[in-house]
Amino acid sequence: MIEKIFILTDKIEFVPDKDLERELNFNLRAAGYVYNKTLEYSAYRENLVKEFHIGENYKVDRNYTQKVVRQLKRQKPFLKKAESTCLQASTDRLIQAYNGYYEHRTGRPKFKSLKNNPVRSITLRNNEYPTKNGVKSSIMWKGNELRLNKLGFVKVKHKRDINGKIKEATILKENGKWFVCITYELEKIQPKEKFTDPPLYVGIDVGLRDFLTFSNDKVIPKPDLGKINSRIVYYQQKLARQKEGGSNWKKTLEKLHKWQNRRNNVVNDYYHKVSYNIVKHCQFIAMETLDIRGMLKSNLSHGIHEIGWGKLIEMIKYKAEWYGREFVQISRWFPSSKKCNFCGHINHDLGPEREWECPHCHTVHKRDVNAAKNILDEGLRATGSMVLCLVDFIPMGQGKILYKYQWKCFDKTQGMA
Ligand SMILES: [Zn+2]
Repeated sequence: MIEKIFILTDKIEFVPDKDLERELNFNLRAAGYVYNKTLEYSAYRENLVKEFHIGENYKVDRNYTQKVVRQLKRQKPFLKKAESTCLQASTDRLIQAYNGYYEHRTGRPKFKSLKNNPVRSITLRNNEYPTKNGVKSSIMWKGNELRLNKLGFVKVKHKRDINGKIKEATILKENGKWFVCITYELEKIQPKEKFTDPPLYVGIDVGLRDFLTFSNDKVIPKPDLGKINSRIVYYQQKLARQKEGGSNWKKTLEKLHKWQNRRNNVVNDYYHKVSYNIVKHCQFIAMETLDIRGMLKSNLSHGIHEIGWGKLIEMIKYKAEWYGREFVQISRWFPSSKKCNFCGHINHDLGPEREWECPHCHTVHKRDVNAAKNILDEGLRATGSMVLCLVDFIPMGQGKILYKYQWKCFDKTQGMA
């Protein structure tokens, strides 16, 4: 058995007192300032190399950003009052953005808007340091209080126990509300309850029309966001008609953020319930690897943003590990829709139709169910749960026999499928 470490993040709301709020706002500004300044210097240096051939090519890495931060602290003494781990986390984020840019995954890093940005965050790393009374950590959790480095104690709204090793805490200011996201490591997770259902092996196909289609012909619909979405569209249109920065504009913006928040909460809640139930009932779960980046570029992108499959898949993944289920993602190049699950014929002429007849064996398939079945078979094959079966043999003369084998799915509950 492989030892696994789980990294979990809990998002918890808190209400800071005035002093703490001032302090947090100051740190937010400082972190944003350092981010933008470091980006400015990097862009300037890059330009010198490119345009004037002065200096050498370099990469934005830890070494470089640390130098810049030291320099900035000398120039702007107010930065010394900021939490140093949060400045470092801020420049680390810039390094990440640059890495994406170097590897052609993302565009060039952009400056952060420090004024009208509804979501802003700082990250505090947990440092351990030795004292007379043993090793202490800079971030500590005590009942419903959290101690954050120099910032002191933060009282959170709901009491929560965190029994892991805290790695970092991200403080988020989201539309005027404060949250702390605690990231912690767990070496072992005790299952909350033991699942006793008969094990079920499923493949899941995701789609815009039917949200999740299972290989056993079951469908889970999308979260119902009709009313929330119509409110969001209403406030977006209203906002566009109003004068930017005016008092009515600000009121509308606040309402818009409120509804967007509500949508996030509803979606999150729904995903937690769905992923929990899938993992509860299914012993083996196979899904596709989604090319979300590619999908975002296509004209389907609106629906995908709203759905956030990536998040749901992550939830299923970690809950599956949590409860000892097997989760497998198959290659995104696997032709799950086009393959006939009955005879294996690949129908290259398949269009967008919801039902199709296999030109080879004339089985009529529901598009998504057929795809889900193929995903299950491929998942089982990829994890070695398929068995090679002898289907035919042909005597070749002189004692030679040609054996024909085929991969078949072995259903552990019911015998050979
Ligand atoms: Zn067929």
